[in-house]
Amino acid sequence: MKRYQRIRALIIAIFLLGVALQGCARTAGPQEYRKDIFALNTWVNIRIYTGKEGPDILDKAIKRIEEIENRMSVTIQDSDVSRINSNAGKQPVKVHDDTFEVIKKALEYAEISNGVFDITIYPIVKLWGITSEHPRVPTEAEIQDKLRFVDYRNVVLNEAEKTVYLKEPGMGIDLGAIAKGYAADEVARILKEEGVVHALINMGGNVVAMGGKPNGQPWRIGVQDPRAEGARRHIAIIEVMDGSVVSSGDYERYFEEAGKRYHHIFDPSTGYPANSGLMATTVVAPNSIDADALSTTVFVMGVERGLELVDKLEGIDALAITFDKKIYTSKGLKGKLIVTDKEYELQP
Ligand code: AMP
Ligand code: MG
Repeated sequence: MKRYQRIRALIIAIFLLGVALQGCARTAGPQEYRKDIFALNTWVNIRIYTGKEGPDILDKAIKRIEEIENRMSVTIQDSDVSRINSNAGKQPVKVHDDTFEVIKKALEYAEISNGVFDITIYPIVKLWGITSEHPRVPTEAEIQDKLRFVDYRNVVLNEAEKTVYLKEPGMGIDLGAIAKGYAADEVARILKEEGVVHALINMGGNVVAMGGKPNGQPWRIGVQDPRAEGARRHIAIIEVMDGSVVSSGDYERYFEEAGKRYHHIFDPSTGYPANSGLMATTVVAPNSIDADALSTTVFVMGVERGLELVDKLEGIDALAITFDKKIYTSKGLKGKLIVTDKEYELQP
């Protein structure tokens, strides 16, 4: 072989090798990237599949969650929510668009549920100290005293100015029942913007599924056993391609006194932890903000009222688990729920 022929053969070989490697990269498909952080008072896990810079995309998502937390946390001193609360009865407070949107949505659910969902529950949450180091059962007089401040109709929104005003001094709001849903929706929006097709976002039981699994199968989302001691286990599975699955329950945050369980979801009509016969609820909806608000609402309402409400809402489904381990579902979930634990009995 002449010298120039050898060089040509070498160039062709290198070219062919390049084509072959490219082909391999293409068949290997997008890679999985994961991130776990503690934010919004819970463990957040994001799993994405992408051929692009996975870690950068995850960092963007995490930054957004932290931004939302800094605006909506009731314990961060200069958050929008803290400023709204410390100006109750004094003056309207200008807030970020985020906070305004979430409060607006929260008030819509307060209307829909006739005040069962009510973000002005904060004075009651604080009184019971559920999220503090020293929770306690207050006296009836203390509860009645704080219940006076619970009324969502005393939250005044100014759309043009983006201000929020609590009419009565002593009032306070808490977005704990809805902010995670908003944050999960925002993460999903960012991931889509970055071209991510398949992803699973889990923010402490607030799950958003995107695009099904990379193999084309739906995501399988576990419904947690509300009475599992220690390790997490599921009692049922919901299959979703795109959408959100959010659970609420008396197992998430509670304390016990004299053998009785006092949990973190309150009935605004009594000032006591909701006592509607449920251990847990799960709501399936296109958007996580709706699923979050509704899982809390259905939990307070109980099986009958709760599922009746959900059946009226287009594209939204729910299940409710009673103390006697029966699972009730809304109409749209009939025949779709996969129960994996024989102790739990699916109702027709
Ligand atoms: P979730 O885990 O989404 O059901 O939300 C529970 C949290 O929402 C609690 O920790 C309280 O901060 C707040 N909350 C409790 N009861 C209510 C209620 N009836 N309406 C709105 N928010 C509530
Ligand atoms: Mg909720």
